[in-house]
Amino acid sequence: MKYDVKSLKAEEFINDGEILETIKYATEHKNDRELIDKILEKAELRKGLDHREASVLLACDDEETVKRIYDLAEQIKKDFYGNRIVLFAPLYLSNYCVNGCLYCPYHLKNKHIPRKKLSQEEVKAEVIALQDMGHKRLAIEAGEDPVNNPIEYILDCIKTIYSIKHKNGAIRRVNVNIAATTVENYRKLRDAGIGTYILFQETYNKKNYEILHPTGPKHNYDYHTEAMDRAMEGGIDDVGLGVLFGLDNYQYEFAGLLMHAEHLEAVHGVGPHTISVPRVKHADDIDPNDFDNSLSDEMFCKIAACIRIAVPYTGMIISTRETKEVREKIIRLGVSQISGGSRTSVGGYTEKERPHDTEQFDVSDNRTLDEVVNWLMRNDYIPSFCTACYREGRTGDRFMSLCKSGQIQNCCHPNALMTLKEFLLDYASEDTKRIGEAMIEKEIDNIGKDKVKDIVRERLVKIEQGDRDFRF
Ligand code: SAM
Repeated sequence: MKYDVKSLKAEEFINDGEILETIKYATEHKNDRELIDKILEKAELRKGLDHREASVLLACDDEETVKRIYDLAEQIKKDFYGNRIVLFAPLYLSNYCVNGCLYCPYHLKNKHIPRKKLSQEEVKAEVIALQDMGHKRLAIEAGEDPVNNPIEYILDCIKTIYSIKHKNGAIRRVNVNIAATTVENYRKLRDAGIGTYILFQETYNKKNYEILHPTGPKHNYDYHTEAMDRAMEGGIDDVGLGVLFGLDNYQYEFAGLLMHAEHLEAVHGVGPHTISVPRVKHADDIDPNDFDNSLSDEMFCKIAACIRIAVPYTGMIISTRETKEVREKIIRLGVSQISGGSRTSVGGYTEKERPHDTEQFDVSDNRTLDEVVNWLMRNDYIPSFCTACYREGRTGDRFMSLCKSGQIQNCCHPNALMTLKEFLLDYASEDTKRIGEAMIEKEIDNIGKDKVKDIVRERLVKIEQGDRDFRF
């Protein structure tokens, strides 16, 4: 097997030999000042780095250079994403699963976890609870079970979610995180109007992947790794990559992630829309210490910074698996989307107290959405509930070219302010409202074009009067 970025075969575009060579090259050059300066100069052009270049940066431990990496990541984040952070929540539909994933509490052999699948009535109740928190964007999650959770079930749930208009609420974007499937099923998801299709690779190391997924359809590494190509063939423009950090060594996963991104760009002309960086957590029947590749918070932040530099146009997502403290650090270095007020159990949003019995993993950030919004603003970030891009047809290469030219800012910034205004009026506490109104007033001045500024001011008044869902 030789490395070929354009191949459609998993083992050629995620090539074990190339990854091992990359790690060796990075270790050998981690103190090569001349090379590192060259890589950083290239990175400063904001056009990204390849997996070898980025791996050298990740390996480098010279204090001064690491500071340069962090400063550049922070600057690139500001240039492409401003000070906005997009908010979303996961919605767990079903924990029925036929796979044997060793790190996941939903694995088939776990007989003490209650199995649950939401009925459409229950989906409705969960969505109303999420709308009442202020959410506009969801990521739906389900185990893999062709009998209990067939594609028709997922499609029914998507239809139900989009149909619910409770008070001023609406879910305007549904991202989907379900197991690898066929081109035909991806086409059905596209036709159902999903936002991003998200699938975590878990680990790029084939040998380890097969050990960690001993049974069930997910055991097939090639089928799983080639899923994004099938999704794109099925017409889904926006796909989200991720690895579950902790399963294998981070150097391997980091190179694999970037090679996957390069592959999508080379074959489909558009890289991943997002990259998620989850870490293995404790869960029912799961002890994260069973996996000996745990990652320090420092290295975790460095990975985020290097991803930011390597793929400046790809959004980066962090969930409530991380604590408030880690989220504070890592957001600065390049994260653009976070979840808030999450419940990772099936039916969790309609329970008064956070239920733990069907949780997929322990949540480390237990704050409410209002508290997360408040905290973001106190740290000078604009919480954004914007869902405009895919609804305006700005997906795939259209989105990427607007992003690369910087024009996307003309939409994102005003949309963030208008959706924040909706949140403040409909869902926020008094304190959050007060801080938010001041933030909107201040941030209007950062809208580049006077004409857009005037339109935003007009629309903010209309939102006060009861109108909703304006967007650029
Ligand atoms: N069943 C689908 C699949 O196989 O891709 C959907 C994904 S599952 C509901 C969402 C993700 O949770 C998994 O891809 C995995 O990375 C992550 N996950 C599973 N167990 C976890 C744990 N113990 N700690 C943190 N994340 C976990």
